[in-house]
Amino acid sequence: MTRFIFITGGVVSSLGKGLAAAALGALLQARGYKVRLRKLDPYINVDPGTMSPYQHGEVYVTDDGAETDLDLGHYERFTGVPSRKSDNITTGRIYQNVIARERRGDYLGATVQVIPHITDAIKEFCVSETEGHDFVLIEVGGTVGDIESLPFLEAIRQLGLELGRERALYVHVTLMPYIAAAGELKTKPTQHSVKELQSLGIQPDVILCRSDRPIPDGDRKKISLFCNVPIASVVPALDVRSIYEAPLSYHEAGLDEQILKTFGIQDAPLRALDRWTDVVRRVLAPEGEVKIAVVGKYTGLKDAYKSLAEALAHGGIANNVKVDLEWVESEIFEHDQDLVSAHLEGVHGILVPGGFGERGSEGKIRAVTFARERRVPYFGICFGMQMAVIEAARSLVGIKNASSTEFGPTPEPVVGLMTEWMQGNDIARRKANGDLGGTMRLGAYPAKLQEGSLVAEIYGATRIEERHRHRYEVNTAYRPELEKAGMRFCGMSPDDMLPEIIEIPAHPWFVGVQFHPELKSKPFEPHPLFASFIKAAVDQSRLV
Ligand code: GLN
Repeated sequence: MTRFIFITGGVVSSLGKGLAAAALGALLQARGYKVRLRKLDPYINVDPGTMSPYQHGEVYVTDDGAETDLDLGHYERFTGVPSRKSDNITTGRIYQNVIARERRGDYLGATVQVIPHITDAIKEFCVSETEGHDFVLIEVGGTVGDIESLPFLEAIRQLGLELGRERALYVHVTLMPYIAAAGELKTKPTQHSVKELQSLGIQPDVILCRSDRPIPDGDRKKISLFCNVPIASVVPALDVRSIYEAPLSYHEAGLDEQILKTFGIQDAPLRALDRWTDVVRRVLAPEGEVKIAVVGKYTGLKDAYKSLAEALAHGGIANNVKVDLEWVESEIFEHDQDLVSAHLEGVHGILVPGGFGERGSEGKIRAVTFARERRVPYFGICFGMQMAVIEAARSLVGIKNASSTEFGPTPEPVVGLMTEWMQGNDIARRKANGDLGGTMRLGAYPAKLQEGSLVAEIYGATRIEERHRHRYEVNTAYRPELEKAGMRFCGMSPDDMLPEIIEIPAHPWFVGVQFHPELKSKPFEPHPLFASFIKAAVDQSRLV
C-alpha cells in the first residue's frame, strides 16, 4: 500500500520546506521504507529551464533529462533516490497538458474548468508511477494563501478524501518568529496560516514549527488547541548547524514517530541513522580547512549553485576538512587584471562552474590561465571545461581568437553548436535557431574514459554516466593540436564524437568535464571527482 504525505508551507517562503520533506524522506528510509519525493510548483513556466538562476536558483537536472526545481536536488541528496521527470510538475505543465487534451477533443464537448479538469490532472500526476513505494512525499511549492497554489491545495484535499485517512496525511510547515521586544516566540502566524488551510478544507495532521530557539511546551499547547492537532503533533523544527543535521534533529523532536503513529503504524523500528551521525560528525568537527574560489556569474545568489556548493562540501566530508568557498564574480577580472591574483593568490583550488552567455567569460578564462600557470588545482564544470579548452587553444596552441559560437560567429569555433548526436540508437537533432526551452543535451549520457587517465583512476572505472545540460560542445577538429600541446581528451562519448572530459596530465590537478557531476553527489557518498578535487586542494594547502 502506498501512503501519501502532503507537505505545505505557511507564514513565509524560504522556510526550508524542501529540506524538511527531504529529511522526513531520509527518516522513513531509515525505517526500511521505500520512498519517493515529488514537488508541485505553482508557477506558470512549463519547467524552470528558462528561468534565470537569479529568479529561481539552480535548475536541477534528472537522469531522464528533466529540468526541475532545486528541491529535487535536496530530495536526491538526502535519500539517494534518483529523481525523475515525473517528480516535478508546474501549473504551466498541467495547463499545457489539459489544453492539449482539449484541442484533441478528449473532453467530448465539456466546458474545461479548473475544477475538475485541472485538479484531476494534478491528482493524476500525484498518484502516477508510485507502485512499489511505501511513501510518496509531495511538497506543494509556495505559501498557503497564494492565489496560484489554490488548485494544488484543492487537488490534494480531494486526494486525501479519496485515499482515506490511513493513506494520506498533511504536514504543514510554519514559522514561529521570536519577537525581541516581547522576549517571546509567537504562535499567531501559525494559527492564521492553519486557519487559512482549514478554510480550504485541509486539516493538517502534523505541524512542523520552524524556530530559531526551543519552543516552550505552553506554546505547543496553544498551537495544539487553536489548530486542532494533538500536542505531540506540534513538532519543533529548530535551526540546525548543518542541513545534514535535520534528519537527526527532526527525529529527536519526534517527527517520524508521530507521522507513523498518525498512520496507525506500530511496527517500524528505526534501523539506522549512523549514516547521518557520521556525516554530521565530519561536518561539525573537520580536521582542517581548504579555500576554494568559485569563479562564476551568478555568485550573488547562493541558490544558483546549490548542488555545486553541496558537492564541494561533500568533497570536504570525504577528506575530513571544511571547504571554505570564495565566490568571485568573473566579470571583475575583465576590468582589472590585478584582481585575478588579488582574489586567487593563496586559494587551494579554483572552480569555474556551469554558465551561459558571453558576459564574464573572458574573466573565467583569466581564472583558468592563473590556475594552469600557477599549478593550482582546477576544476571546470560544463562552461568551465569549455573555457579551459578555449584558454588552452589560445595560450598553448596559439589560436589567438579561439572562441565559442555561443558568443556569436567566430573563425575559430573551438566550442561550437552540435546539431546532431547519437542518443542510444537514434540520432537526436537540434535546430540552430530553435526554441530555448528544453532544447539542450539534457540528462544522463554515457562516457568512456581513457585507461590510465587521472579520471579513470578517480572513478575507478572506464565507463561512466553523468548528467548534462548544455547546447555547445568542444569541437573535436581542434583535438589533435590541443593534445599535442598537453591537453588530454580522456573522456569521450561512446561514438567518439563528443568530448566529455579533458585533463592536463602535467598539471597537479586540472580536469574539465562537460557534464554536471555535482548533481549526483551525496553527503554519505561524495562524488569521486569532488572528493579528489578537494584532496588535491588539501595537498595544495600544504604547499602554500
Ligand atoms: N553555455 C554552455 C552551453 O550551453 C555551457 C552550459 C553549462 O555550463 N551548463 O553549452
